[in-house]
Amino acid sequence: MGVPSVFLRTFGCNFTCDGFGMPPGEASQERHAIKIADYKTYNDLPLVKSGCDSFASWMPEFKHLSPMLTTDAIADRIMEILPHGEWRDEHLVITGGEPLLGWQRAYPDLLAHAKMKNLKEITFETNGTQPLAPKFKEYLQAWNQAQFPHGAGGEITFSVSAKLPCSGENWEDAIRPEVVCEYEQVGYAYLKFVVATEVDVADALEASAEYRAAGFRGPIYLMPVGGVESVYTLNNRRVAELAMRHGLRYSDRLQVPLFRNAWGT
Ligand code: SF4
Repeated sequence: MGVPSVFLRTFGCNFTCDGFGMPPGEASQERHAIKIADYKTYNDLPLVKSGCDSFASWMPEFKHLSPMLTTDAIADRIMEILPHGEWRDEHLVITGGEPLLGWQRAYPDLLAHAKMKNLKEITFETNGTQPLAPKFKEYLQAWNQAQFPHGAGGEITFSVSAKLPCSGENWEDAIRPEVVCEYEQVGYAYLKFVVATEVDVADALEASAEYRAAGFRGPIYLMPVGGVESVYTLNNRRVAELAMRHGLRYSDRLQVPLFRNAWGT
């Protein structure tokens, strides 16, 4: 949190996460009620209080708001966003949707671009279900070696938001310890579980035990549910107390108090 970051958001996800903010077993209908024809840009879309708050980054109906860009165009846009027009302390966060779907094939082209030469830190914000393609894994290991030949390590991070039953996704599909353990062969990985209730925390503890049993070494965070401030402020203190009680770390949602979780933040 607080690191100056450029977010690259890819389109598509293997989940829908309609359970967030809903009673157990119920699916949010909010995203279906949005009249797509009323919106011409991504930033004008309404926020939702339940279900996935990034729905427009994977719902096919919203695909026209996410243009297909060339590598050159993406690199140029990143240079425009960087405060000094070059990489200094900024971090590249590759997010989605789920950024480790087929996009794995496109990242080497971007990371090898001349304008990305001084980039030193990358984070993949993933749901932790997508294995790394062997070629991409080798590419990332080589990239890390080339950027840091003296082996400082930790410049590639996998921020794994594994989905508990409160997301509406099936446990077997969402909790994939073998996939996340493989990320640790490439970089630093941590897990964060989005929770609202003590049942969610019990699920997080059960999932944590599965990851640890498979050999996962990284830290584990609890994060309060709540893409909008009214929901988030109801939860954050209680989740922090639950994290302390269970010896886990607590992750805030800095963008909610700062930006009200607006699109583009
Ligand atoms: S995995 Fe993430 S982006 Fe995909 S539907 Fe769930 S919350 Fe949304």
